[in-house]
Amino acid sequence: MGGGVRLRTADGRRKAGRMTYDAIVVGARCGGAPLAMLLARRGHRVLLVDRAARLTDPVSTHYLPHAGVRRLADWGLLDALRASGVPPIGPMTVSWQDSVIRGAVEAVDGIDCAYAPRRTVLDALLVEAAAAAGAEVRLGYAGKSKGGKTRKGSKWLRLYLHEAARAASRTKGTYLSAQYSRIKARRGPAKARVAVEHSILVALFHMLDRDEPYHDLGADYFTHRRDPARHAQRLAAQLDALGYDTVITRRPDNQATAA
Ligand SMILES: Cc1cc2nc3c(=O)[nH]c(=O)nc-3n(C[C@H](O)[C@H](O)[C@H](O)COP(=O)(O)OP(=O)(O)OC[C@H]3O[C@@H](n4cnc5c(N)ncnc54)[C@H](O)[C@@H]3O)c2cc1C
Repeated sequence: MGGGVRLRTADGRRKAGRMTYDAIVVGARCGGAPLAMLLARRGHRVLLVDRAARLTDPVSTHYLPHAGVRRLADWGLLDALRASGVPPIGPMTVSWQDSVIRGAVEAVDGIDCAYAPRRTVLDALLVEAAAAAGAEVRLGYAGKSKGGKTRKGSKWLRLYLHEAARAASRTKGTYLSAQYSRIKARRGPAKARVAVEHSILVALFHMLDRDEPYHDLGADYFTHRRDPARHAQRLAAQLDALGYDTVITRRPDNQATAA
């Protein structure tokens, strides 16, 4: 949570300036907007962004069940929803082929109905509440995290990390050397080294925090971290595109793809 951010518009243009927030919430819809609102109400400096310039209606049944109505009441937003003119839903009938279920929302804490507001209504109301609580709202902006310049810090730490990363990237069959090779191929040796420095620092933090020795994730970590069966299919598709026929069978000793 938190950090400095450079904002870009949805079409990639950079917005001038660097701001610092306690929390940056990405997605200004019914999930993100209340989170931003609650954090802002607790006094945090919050940025709420959405790449969409306009909060249109997504595909949805729009049904806001009792628990959701309860939340709106807790947050002091139920009256605003009612004022939008959305009708309450009391008795309900749900039918599927010959089966019909009839019922009604049980009254709890004085709330005996549900609602089905358009998301253009509900999300707008929640975003307004976040803004009213003090969150900075920016629609049409997308967060971009591609790493930037390293910030100022101890020059000694930088020196030692640099040496450690250089040594780690030359080791054989380790997580850090695999990480270095992967990033170097895509983004060059300088970025790869900084990424390894970062990993070493994070690992050190956890070792000290948990009082544990270093546990290497292994050079094959990147191969196995995603679904290995799908990865194998993807590689087979690439070979197919290159004009090779492949038959994929899983070896019995293959723990990685065992169900
Ligand atoms: C067909 C269907 C029917 C449904 N019916 C109901 C229902 O009746 N009742 C109910 O309670 N739930 C229903 N749901 C589920 C409900 O739609 C979701 O739970 C809800 O939309 C999740 O809200 P959210 O705010 O987390 O995400 P979303 O509503 O998906 O919003 C995410 C937002 O994040 C933004 N975003 C994403 N990535 C970035 C990025 N990198 N930078 C900037 N912005 C970004 C997007 O533009 C988007 O506006 C239904 C879902 C479907 C698919």
